[in-house]
Amino acid sequence: MPAQIIDGKAVAQQVEAEVRDELQRLGYTPNLVVIRVGNDPASEVYVRNKARKAKELGLRGTELVFDASMREPDLLGQIARLNGDPDVDGILVQLPLPKQIDSKKVIEAIDPRKDVDGFHPMNVGLLHLGQPSLVPCTPAGILRLIRATGAGIEGARAGVIGRSDIVGKPVAALLLRENATVTICHSKTRDLAAVAREADILVAAIGRPRFVTAAMVKPGAVVIDVGINRVEGKLTGDVDFQNVREIASWITPVPGGVGPMTIAMLMRNTVIAAKERR
Ligand code: NAP
Repeated sequence: MPAQIIDGKAVAQQVEAEVRDELQRLGYTPNLVVIRVGNDPASEVYVRNKARKAKELGLRGTELVFDASMREPDLLGQIARLNGDPDVDGILVQLPLPKQIDSKKVIEAIDPRKDVDGFHPMNVGLLHLGQPSLVPCTPAGILRLIRATGAGIEGARAGVIGRSDIVGKPVAALLLRENATVTICHSKTRDLAAVAREADILVAAIGRPRFVTAAMVKPGAVVIDVGINRVEGKLTGDVDFQNVREIASWITPVPGGVGPMTIAMLMRNTVIAAKERR
């Protein structure tokens, strides 16, 4: 029997409904500020969608747009201003930044309590210590999708392909926090197929279209495809969906799997940040 599809849109809507409910209880309206520097077309869409979703759910969403020639001290000055503004709950700087600006410095400048992307070293450290923190949105969304399948995470073997700071490492940390036995694979992993085949839960965050073939998947595994690749104008994941679907028990489609979760979890993080700080 082919794998069941994990419907990212439906799970994202559940998260959004929870955010709406929480907002009813709060008595104030959390404020998310999203910063874009320059005119990268993909960033324009992402930033607009984030601010729009915030408003749709009943949060405040402010878009701050600066010229591509902006100097680093000026951006750091803006962040210092937002850090000091008690009415700002979440600060997100859309990456990538123009080359004259060091994104590491910018991330480190954000007040960790307002770091709704969860990229500040303080939040990264807390996550790896297994302590409460603002968790990066895509990894948090991935965990939620795995939970939605009902598959047990505790004691399961989890394989994460990819070790980026924004997906692979935080996903691995979250799975470990949930008591999975986690293996992280990367470009230097020997016999990756055999390692991946051990996984009851397999997360692919590689950035290579259809990299994960059926031969790399354990029968009955839960397969989460994080990849977004454009192949001949079509969005394609890191997993060979058609063939892996015949083997897995659950699988995310691309698009419509992990993608919709990211913005939903950002909204959730904004509410968490507001509640913790206020
Ligand atoms: P990244 O920073 O480029 O990292 C890719 C990882 O894959 C690296 O750790 C790399 O290993 C590993 N890798 C590359 N080629 C490999 C190979 N042949 N064998 C084994 N491992 C290999 O990418 P990312 O930012 O994590 O993103 C991964 C994918 O997810 C991309 O398609 C991206 O667009 C997508 N994404 C989607 C969302 C979403 O909302 N759905 C969010 C973020 C990212 P090394 O470390 O050894 O180089």
